[in-house]
Amino acid sequence: MVGIVAPGRNVAHSCYDALYALQHRGQESAGMATFQNQQITVVKDNGLVSHVFAESTLRALAGSLVIGHTRYSTSGSANWTAAQPVYRSAGTSGFALAHNGNLTNTTALAESVGVLFTSMLSDSDLVAELLAREVDTGATLSEALALVLARVEGAFSMVILEADQVHAVRDPYGFRPLCLGRLGTLDAPEGWMVASESPALDVVGATFVREIAPGEMVSITKEGMTSRQLLEPAGEKQRLCIFEFVYFARPDAYLMGHQVHTTRRRMGELLALQSSVEADLVMGVPDSGVPAAEGYAKASGIPFGYGLVKNRYIGRTFISPDQSERTASVRRKLNPLRENIEGQRLIVVDDSIVRGTTTKALVGMLRDAGAREVHLRISSPPFMWPCYYGIDTPNRDELLAANHSISEMNEFIGSDSLEFITLANLRDAIQLSGECCDACLTGTYPAPIPVVISAAGSRW
Ligand code: SF4
Repeated sequence: MVGIVAPGRNVAHSCYDALYALQHRGQESAGMATFQNQQITVVKDNGLVSHVFAESTLRALAGSLVIGHTRYSTSGSANWTAAQPVYRSAGTSGFALAHNGNLTNTTALAESVGVLFTSMLSDSDLVAELLAREVDTGATLSEALALVLARVEGAFSMVILEADQVHAVRDPYGFRPLCLGRLGTLDAPEGWMVASESPALDVVGATFVREIAPGEMVSITKEGMTSRQLLEPAGEKQRLCIFEFVYFARPDAYLMGHQVHTTRRRMGELLALQSSVEADLVMGVPDSGVPAAEGYAKASGIPFGYGLVKNRYIGRTFISPDQSERTASVRRKLNPLRENIEGQRLIVVDDSIVRGTTTKALVGMLRDAGAREVHLRISSPPFMWPCYYGIDTPNRDELLAANHSISEMNEFIGSDSLEFITLANLRDAIQLSGECCDACLTGTYPAPIPVVISAAGSRW
């Protein structure tokens, strides 16, 4: 998500650049909402940022206030009607809302206002509906946000555009990242910006100021930025998703004061100290396995090398629940460097194992390319529990680690050995002084989870 207010500037192009930098966070749809001439204009569609926004579209999106979104669906429809920002006409004008995360009490929330959640396009659509109802009864949008978000459970970082301001708010646990940046300099300020990850600030020349705190709402107008604690934070410790460090965030992002790339290298170093094995080459599975592999090589003294080439133009849309299609999708996405692999004893570092089917296909591909041994090292502990806070995961009965011992997993995947980093070492690698959410590893969910667990499939 992105939000920019820069008086006197058209900000659609900056929003485009920032969304482009955040493409990894969602590849199903992209959208933008701008405000000009007392009117909010929303453009959104299925596809990547570069597909949705032609130059002519960006030129037509005039205005100095903008919010933007790339969608990764964890609930609701995956078709274009669920693309964001969501627009609602309310009171004398309207607003547009974009949301990262997943809400866990949608059924109860919908029932509280007499609607069926199944009639809504997504959890974000439901929040927009609840906000519009409050605004229609006379509340300002800020007041409506305080009233509605206090009743919402689960994970949400949101940006909301109304006539003359952009609001950015983070849930009381801070599950999903959100940071604040300044455009211009302290002496010559040009505006403010919020974004899911700090590299989105970098690409438009904004200066990182700080992360938005759990429960905080920042409001930006052409006069400047104000902040308030909209929601009581959930204790002193925040619960940023630990998988943002392991897998989800860009390596050049800063989270909780740490550059993600550095934490991934440390994961590899600690993994090497924890589980050594004789081998000729350490290689990472692109992308997030590579810095961890570099760390593993450094700590073990075994040479680091490249064994896989990734096609960077394959999106998640190609991934299918069908096993043969999964195997095919691994081959589309990754191709072995045969001369680096042939006859070698490999240590292969990857970020996680979910169903295990992708990893099994990968190990098969490396063996076909001539690997003598394949030792898997995973930079997250076994993934045992589903996520309800914004990462799309299968049901528990499909999670390999939830139903098998590590030696059974090793046998299923076809590797020569398999080791996972311990939770203590993962926390050390991130140098956590507080807490992260680690519910998918421990089963301890910091926020309430849905009573009825959806049987929907996953595209992890
Ligand atoms: S359950 Fe796992 S994936 Fe979901 S927010 Fe918590 S740490 Fe992240």
